[in-house]
Amino acid sequence: MKVTIDPGSGFCFGVKRAIEHAESILKDQEQLYCLGDIVHNKAEMNRLRERGLVSIDHEAVKNLKEKHLLFRAHGEPPASYRLTKGNNISLTDATCPIVSRLQDKITKAFEKIKENNGQLVIFGNPDHPETIGLQGQTGGMAIIINDPGRLDKIDPARPVELFSQTTKSTEGFLQLEKNIRKLMSEHFPEMELPLKVHNTICGQISRRTPGIGKFAASHEVIIFVGGVDSSNAKVLFQKCKESNPNSWFISTPEELKAEWFRNAGSAGVCGATSTPQWLMEKVSEKIMKLTEGKN
Ligand code: SF4
Repeated sequence: MKVTIDPGSGFCFGVKRAIEHAESILKDQEQLYCLGDIVHNKAEMNRLRERGLVSIDHEAVKNLKEKHLLFRAHGEPPASYRLTKGNNISLTDATCPIVSRLQDKITKAFEKIKENNGQLVIFGNPDHPETIGLQGQTGGMAIIINDPGRLDKIDPARPVELFSQTTKSTEGFLQLEKNIRKLMSEHFPEMELPLKVHNTICGQISRRTPGIGKFAASHEVIIFVGGVDSSNAKVLFQKCKESNPNSWFISTPEELKAEWFRNAGSAGVCGATSTPQWLMEKVSEKIMKLTEGKN
């Protein structure tokens, strides 16, 4: 069995940077608190937990005293920064610079759009921490749309400015834009639609989607390694499935099944932006063990 790890898979720049921040702090101190999981990957979380990283929620931050706290790559709403004031908390802000720039852009756009009674729309998962952080820049006023077909929250007679969570799919974003255009065209002439579109999907994500599709198509079996909570993993796995129906989603090597590789000569291992390289290597080793002497 020939097993290949996708060279384009693994941590994105923002996640890598946040983990490096955490590891470098944990070299000098025993414990570091992180608001939420630093990465949507259980195995990597366990590794970091053993080194002293403690995930806490917003409620727990209120009671944190004289500790070191890290904000992960997804970013936080202004309310989280206010929570860290007082109690002598030392804050390391590892928000991905791309997300920080997007937060600034949304803050500015919202100030402007308020003046002409417009609506700021974010294509995102309302429960995703990045989207919560982005919506926080508008005091909770931004309209969040997760399904491009559900436009009921938009008033088509008012201006719209559209943004995206950085990890959403480009196809979904383009579909949403098309649907909003159609809806608004019932109220405005086509050339004068008061619709401003900012495709703010991260290049690390949009480039990966076609790349992973090619990778999936060039192997007989695809093992996608990702966390069940990662929205990026869902998007990328979907692409694998479209390119190669013989694709399987796992979070740990223990979930591999020998029957997936029956009659196959090649397997590809790939993952999300939150999947560590070491985990893909472990999966690859386990596949070789499971298929030993069979092909
Ligand atoms: S996906 Fe892009 S924007 Fe999001 S954390 Fe990674 S590098 Fe930053």
